[in-house]
Amino acid sequence: MILEIINHEYQYEAEKLTRIFYPNEKINVVFEKTGNSIEPVLTTLLKDNNIKVEFKDCNNNILFSKTQSIKADSDKELITVTLIYEALTRITGYTPKWGMLTGIRPSKLLRSLKENNSAEEGKRIFKERYFVDEEKTNLADSVASAEEKVISLSRPESFSLYVSIPFCPTRCSYCSFVSHAMTEELIEKLMPEYVEYLVKEIEYTGKIAKDLNLRLESVYYGGGTPTTLSENQLETVIGAIENSFDLSTVREYTIEAGRPDTVTAEKLRVMKRGGVSRISINPQTFSDEILKKVGRRHTAKQAEDAFLLARETGFDNINMDLIAGLPDDTFEGFTATIQKAIGFSPENITVHTLALKRSSNMGEGGKVAVEKSRLAGNMLDYAFNSLKDNGYYPYYMYRQSKSLGNLENTGYCKQNRECLYNIFMMEECHSVFAVGAGAVTRLKAPYSSLIDRIFNYKYPYEYINGFDTLLERKKSIYNFYEKDRVGEHNVKYE
Ligand code: SF4
Repeated sequence: MILEIINHEYQYEAEKLTRIFYPNEKINVVFEKTGNSIEPVLTTLLKDNNIKVEFKDCNNNILFSKTQSIKADSDKELITVTLIYEALTRITGYTPKWGMLTGIRPSKLLRSLKENNSAEEGKRIFKERYFVDEEKTNLADSVASAEEKVISLSRPESFSLYVSIPFCPTRCSYCSFVSHAMTEELIEKLMPEYVEYLVKEIEYTGKIAKDLNLRLESVYYGGGTPTTLSENQLETVIGAIENSFDLSTVREYTIEAGRPDTVTAEKLRVMKRGGVSRISINPQTFSDEILKKVGRRHTAKQAEDAFLLARETGFDNINMDLIAGLPDDTFEGFTATIQKAIGFSPENITVHTLALKRSSNMGEGGKVAVEKSRLAGNMLDYAFNSLKDNGYYPYYMYRQSKSLGNLENTGYCKQNRECLYNIFMMEECHSVFAVGAGAVTRLKAPYSSLIDRIFNYKYPYEYINGFDTLLERKKSIYNFYEKDRVGEHNVKYE
């Protein structure tokens, strides 16, 4: 379809909103009138303080046309997107549950609306101005409250540590991460070498943190699947962290053991001995057919066994990841998965919405229609209600571009079992020092709004070959903190 942006600057917002209704269509953005076209055309035009939005189908029939005058400059954007939203809901017959919100953190918007108004008024604006439905408003509200509690734990000198292990047993067809499926060569050559360099980077980063007198709040290993490391490699990495950082202040230490086929009793023991307090075992679905279809080389039973083994080893804080909208999954299938997960009583259940990314390899070519979005939406509503009925509440939420229906990923937890790292990272409460291939260090200045990022090389070979350059880049962490120290606030945190 063609999206005409004429005389205004809201291309980004208009395109993102249109994408919610046409997730798989190529949207051609143009900046002047196209005349008659064989494609549908959505025109957005600003002229003489009026915004006009018009929709023509491929036969050039005008299906929607509305003009609204603008009284204040500050209303321009809101009026433009509101008219686009009105046009597209009318044309497609689809009403997104998040209304016209396109941002990745709805709870952050709600928090600021509540801060700038009364709590009730903030909620009302959130719902009515952006057309968010009742359930999603309540979800965002619950998340906003849980986030506030965790955000308050972060201090100016706090930081968290992220460790990237970008390897997996096989590649899931929906995967959008940079992760490498295990091959003989990878196991024999690349992984040992990767661990060697990772340890060096851990040591280097630990020194920076000590020099800056920072306080480590949480540690998180992701990827990939960190438990693709052998028992010895896992022990080496855990040991390097123990030797390089002061772990006495750590509130939470998570390792993702996502693929159950990588979990062994010995690895669990190594993690437990190393002070790991939280792990994630991810069934995604309890349907063997669907697991096979999406290329996960494990069964539902393996996920169950891995969970029970982790309990036996003494893990009392376990997350399970599930996905709504997997290919061939039905509403009934998804409800069975939720019920089964609840039956295991994990401390966290994270419900993702399937997102189709360019780098994923979904066989059917991502033919995601409004119907699939509706189904995923119903699945999420079911998850929200049944998890609530079973003592879980949502504490963390974000949206990914290209997820079905522009729907969300939500972390649910039992009382006081929020994953701290998820909130620290998502809300940019403090710096996250990241190590490993593909890792991104996110710097947040303690006393100012200064934010910066340091990117590590994406792929393991690049990471190893460019290691010295990478360490050089990391030196800039000192400068970043120094700048904040001598900045306008001029406050010392030693
Ligand atoms: S387990 Fe996760 S990181 Fe690994 S391939 Fe599957 S989706 Fe990607």
